[in-house]
Amino acid sequence: MTTTTVEKAPRKQGMYEVVMEQFAHAADIMDLDPGVRKILAKTNSEIVVHFPVRLDNGKIEVFTGYRVQHNNALGPYKGGLRYHPTLDIDAARALAIWMTWKTSLAGLPYGGAKGGVEIDPKQYSQGELERITRRFTYALGDNIGPDLDIPAPDVNTNAQIMAWIADTFSSTKSPSTRFANLHVVTGKPLGAGGLEGRDRATGFGVVANLKTWAKIHKHDLKGMRFIVQGFGNVGYWTAHFLLKEGAILIAVQDATATLHDEKGIDPEALLEHSDANGRNIKGFKGAKEMEPKDFFALPCDIVVPAALGNQITGENAGGIKAKVVAEGANGPTNTAGEEILRKNKVDIIPDILCNSGGVIGSYYEWLQNKRSEIWKIEEVLKMIHDKIDTSFTQVIATSAEFKVDWRTSAYIVALRRLEKTYKERGIFP
Ligand code: NAD
Repeated sequence: MTTTTVEKAPRKQGMYEVVMEQFAHAADIMDLDPGVRKILAKTNSEIVVHFPVRLDNGKIEVFTGYRVQHNNALGPYKGGLRYHPTLDIDAARALAIWMTWKTSLAGLPYGGAKGGVEIDPKQYSQGELERITRRFTYALGDNIGPDLDIPAPDVNTNAQIMAWIADTFSSTKSPSTRFANLHVVTGKPLGAGGLEGRDRATGFGVVANLKTWAKIHKHDLKGMRFIVQGFGNVGYWTAHFLLKEGAILIAVQDATATLHDEKGIDPEALLEHSDANGRNIKGFKGAKEMEPKDFFALPCDIVVPAALGNQITGENAGGIKAKVVAEGANGPTNTAGEEILRKNKVDIIPDILCNSGGVIGSYYEWLQNKRSEIWKIEEVLKMIHDKIDTSFTQVIATSAEFKVDWRTSAYIVALRRLEKTYKERGIFP
């Protein structure tokens, strides 16, 4: 297995600048308390670990992992772990900050964090990934914990990786606390304390948001044509649930290919192909390959970015002809891209609202573990739907109050809750 990908990888996605611009804009408009603004402009702690792992070829490689804890005024830190070569301290910071806004907006008792390992996991065997994950967990030590900081899956991490983290974390504690520690992570497999429905929670939530959006505009999702960037957890489940509403998937892009078929692509057949092909869509026979650069300009009604940050930019936003961009990914639209979309009257369902189904699902998994209960998928999906409805209603009301776009109003709802908490509680000492 090669170990040189980290050095060769493209660095920096520029997401930190985007989140800080969004924050400054909302803080100005709502006139956020200056002290609270200072606190929220910084991350509480930033953990960088370097840890050795023996690879299958017998050689030792040293990996770099991150955990940035932005804010915990509302509860334990919460946020995913990403395994990707573009992960660096700035990306972890930006993603941690977005988590603070997201959990606050959703009304959850959580703060915001994010992290991961700077690797291309496709370069490593399953055994190597297990050792990397376990050693990363060990290196994080007591910086994570079920009442302190609770990671979850993100790009290139999944239920299996969460199970290894839970097992490593609890195995390094006293045996008497083993089961009290399993909820150090969410997004676990069902047999390891996972929640039925957590796997689909983010995509389900994206579609719950789109249903509300359609209701507001008196549109019918049935017959609407949509495109999805990213065909992992969020992209697949969004396509799955949008098809149930009668919408038609006409194009999908992932890191390996861009596929197009005006008659419609079957996401279930595409998933089967992708699962058998290292989670890549390339080579799928049910659609034609097209130029990646023309993807966002395809005529359609709904665009779902569900891959990485900064994908809709000043360069390509002008080509978007859709009615709405539903941000499944975190930070997919940069500031220049957003301005163009707004000028062209393309609605944006902002990431901190649109993809919040994932962290809401995680919250219910954590509660289920804490209470030693097992819940049914129908109850879970209904609870996620209700919470998203509540958030969207608040975002619409606040958007009318301040006469601002949905992203800014989502920020204002989130920041008001944090501001209130700081004002009531005061600052120690
Ligand atoms: P994943 O690893 O399951 O899938 C990522 C997908 O993006 C893959 O299909 C990959 O090929 C594709 N991709 C990577 N680079 C690309 C590129 N340059 N161009 C096009 N496609 C590319 O990840 P996921 O869990 O589905 O996460 C996707 C996004 O959703 C991320 O921004 C993540 O932060 C966000 N998110 C995830 C969750 C969750 O519950 N998993 C929750 C909220 C937000």
